[in-house]
This record gives sequence, C-alpha cells and structure tokens, in this order.
Amino acid sequence: MTKFKDLGLKEEVLRGITDQGFEEAFEIQEAVIPVLLSGRDVVGQAHTGSGKTAAFALSMLNDITPKQGIQGLIMAPTRELAMQISTEIKKMGKHTGIRIATVYGGQGMGVQLDALHRGVEIIVATPGRLIDHLKRGSIELGDVTHIVLDEADTMLDMGFVDDIQFILDLSPEDRVMSLFSATMPTAILRLGEDYLHNPKQFLLDADDLSGEGIDQSFLVIKDRDKFKYLLDFIKPLKGQSIVFCSTKYRTRDVAKYLHQEKYNAVAIEGDMSQSRREQSMAKFRNGKADILVATDVASRGIDVPRVELVVNYDVPNQEMAYFHRIGRTARAGTEGRAITFVSYSSVGDWNIIKRQIKVPLRDLNQEMNIEISIPDPLKRQSSPRRYGGGGSRSNYSRGGSRGGGYGRGGGYGRGGGYGRNSRDDRGSKRRDSGGDGKNSYGGRSRW
Ligand code: ADP
Ligand code: MG
Repeated sequence: MTKFKDLGLKEEVLRGITDQGFEEAFEIQEAVIPVLLSGRDVVGQAHTGSGKTAAFALSMLNDITPKQGIQGLIMAPTRELAMQISTEIKKMGKHTGIRIATVYGGQGMGVQLDALHRGVEIIVATPGRLIDHLKRGSIELGDVTHIVLDEADTMLDMGFVDDIQFILDLSPEDRVMSLFSATMPTAILRLGEDYLHNPKQFLLDADDLSGEGIDQSFLVIKDRDKFKYLLDFIKPLKGQSIVFCSTKYRTRDVAKYLHQEKYNAVAIEGDMSQSRREQSMAKFRNGKADILVATDVASRGIDVPRVELVVNYDVPNQEMAYFHRIGRTARAGTEGRAITFVSYSSVGDWNIIKRQIKVPLRDLNQEMNIEISIPDPLKRQSSPRRYGGGGSRSNYSRGGSRGGGYGRGGGYGRGGGYGRNSRDDRGSKRRDSGGDGKNSYGGRSRW
C-alpha cells in the first residue's frame, strides 16, 4: 500500500487528508491519482465504498488555483450524491482555500446564485440544474480544466446522456477528464471513448457483481408478513440499517409503521421536498436516526460508514439496483449484512438477480425453518400466469431441502415450480441494464 505523501500531492492537500485520518491510499486512489496528476484522462471502476471520491478529488484540489474561476466540474446523478461529494471535498480541501458550490435541482436558485457570486473553483452538480445555470449564464465553463463524471452508470440509466453532451460541448477541449463507475457495462466504455482522450483504464474489480464482504441472505415470505420479519431483524441491531422499498408509497408506509413501533426511522423518497430529504439524510448520517427507509434514489453512492444491515423490503426491479443497495453496507472494509425479502410474486425477479450473486447466499427459509406455502396454481383461477407455466424448475429446490422444496408436498411444487419460466420473466420484466442503458429502472416515477 502506498502512503498519500508518496503520490505527488501538495502539502496543503496532504494536510486535509491527514485531518481525515487517512494514511494509506486505497487501491483505486493509488492507481488513479498519479495519472490524473500527469494530465491524462482516466476511466475508473472499483467497488462502491472503495474510495473513488478521493481518487478524483485530490488531483483536482492539487491542480486548481484559488480565485481563478471555475476550474473543476464534477457531475453526479443525484442530489444526495452531489452533496456527499461536496462535503467530502470540502473536508479534504480544507487547507487549500478552494471553494466549492453544490448545484442541484430542488433547492432554490437563490442559495446557489449567492454561492456562485461569492466565487467558487469547483462545482459539484447534477446535470439538469447545471444546464439551468449555464443557460442563464450564472455558470460558465470556459476556464474548466478538470471534469469528472461520477457514477456514470447511474447517469446513463437516468437518461442524462444528452445533458452530459450539452455540458461537455460548453467546456474546453483541453481538460483532464475522468469517469467513474461502480460497474462498467459496454455503454459506459463507449461513453468513455466518446468523451475522453485516450483514457487510461483502471478496471480494478471487473466483477463488481460480487457483493464481496457482505453476508447476503434472502427470505421468501408473504408480502403481508414482511413487516413482522423486519422488526425481528432490526430489533437486535446495534448499528444503523437501511430498508429499501420498491415505491415511495411503500417507503412511507414502512417508515410510518416503524414510528408506530417507536423506532427512530427517517425516510427518503422522490416526492419529498429537497429540504426534507436533506433533513432525513443528515439525521441518518449523524446517527440521530437508526433506520433509513428509502427508495432507490438513496441506493447509489451514499456512504454512511456504520450501516450494519441493508434490508431489501422489496426485491429491486433490476439486478444492478440490488448490488447498489447492498453496497450501502460493508463500506470501507467494514462488515455488513444484506437481507432480501422475496414476496411470492417476486420469486421470478429474485431468481434473475440471484444468478448474478457470485458469493455464497444464505437461505433463511432453510436456516429459520420457515416454510413457503405458495397457493396451488391449479386451484388459483385469478392469475394463473403468475405461478403456472410449468416452466423451469425452481431454484429453491436446490440445496436438498426436505420434500424437494419448501412447500409441504402439495405446495408450489405441483405446478412444476413457481418461478415461472425464467426466460419469460426476463423478456417481459427486466430491462437490459447493460445495453443502451435507457431507463433501466423501469417506472422511475414510483421513486
Ligand atoms: P466510492 O465512491 O468508491 O463508493 P467513497 O469515495 O464514498 O467510495 O469512499 C468510501 C469511504 O471510504 C468514505 O467513508 C471515505 O471517507 C473512506 N475512505 C476513502 N479513502 C480512504 C482512505 N484512503 N483511507 C481510509 N478511508 C478512506
Ligand atoms: Mg462514489
């Protein structure tokens, strides 16, 4: 491992790092910092929690001069992430005199304009609001020398490609640019080719679908039993936990139930006002709240070191979301657990995700001796499609559980597996997360 002081960083930058208690550079930092300092573009990929923020921020802080206009631009997909990046950089750049403004939708223009008027050297922005500023002339990119696209995969997923193009067209050709992503689908590599000049690639962990270091488990239960089990899992916890739900309505409900049970929970979902989202996040981050209930808006990039458990209250609607969600735990080398609640109707979706999990996955139905009793498809008239089909054999029968599966004899097994033909599932439900990247979240409005 390399010490930060051997990476060629200036004294005042190093002091900011030491203040943070960092000594040794993480792998991605050790790889990327010298290359960015040399002025070459970078494509970087490493696990969530591997320290990508400092990897791009330190060289930026090193090369930027105070009071010489906006020289650094960092784009991030969500407000939460933009704020988190700003906070980190402010800490690291404490001794540099470099000023940072965060620019994102949902906050009044006034605050941002004030900050910009006072003068800043680095802008951390979500693309939409940045474009608003560019159009009204409150931000100009003519002096920018350093550009970063953080969480590039999410930006693609959220349909920001055109916005990014628009922004880059307004910035100088001669710039150092880097692109970071926890995953590296071909669409991202292509993006890198389009925007970066001969980038040096660091694909440190090409298989980010590992969820390594996270104790992952799942439990197949009826939807209406989920809350009861949630309480069982969070009761013994000492640290913090995050509960991910599929929709904002579910998020609100789960948070409400937790309050009724006297848990200190906060929620984040897309309909909440920006200030309430910030309040929730702040409470969770500073430890005043023990549980964060959230939709996928909070799944990417958010770093709260003490998260001990991630509960997927609902199966995410695509596999990347699963890995981003569970990546909220086991940050920076700590240990963490992730439990996924699988309602009977989500078994097909879960099977698709499960295939991508490359580490041992614990089956809690087996461990806790909880039976699955999916209604007999032959007797179910209302939606025969869901359980019927007699297609693929269910994955759940593997591992030799008694009676060839969970159901007691006559359970789901009779129909030849409740998992529905998995190929059908894939075709109809799952979007291609590695393809053109368009809207792979499906109904984003439900966030
Ligand atoms: P990523 O963007 O790769 O998901 P982050 O940049 O959010 O990861 O970093 C994850 C955590 O690791 C943060 O809490 C950060 O403060 C911490 N961290 C980063 N670099 C170091 C380091 N060199 N030593 C110790 N902790 C670090
Ligand atoms: Mg990050």
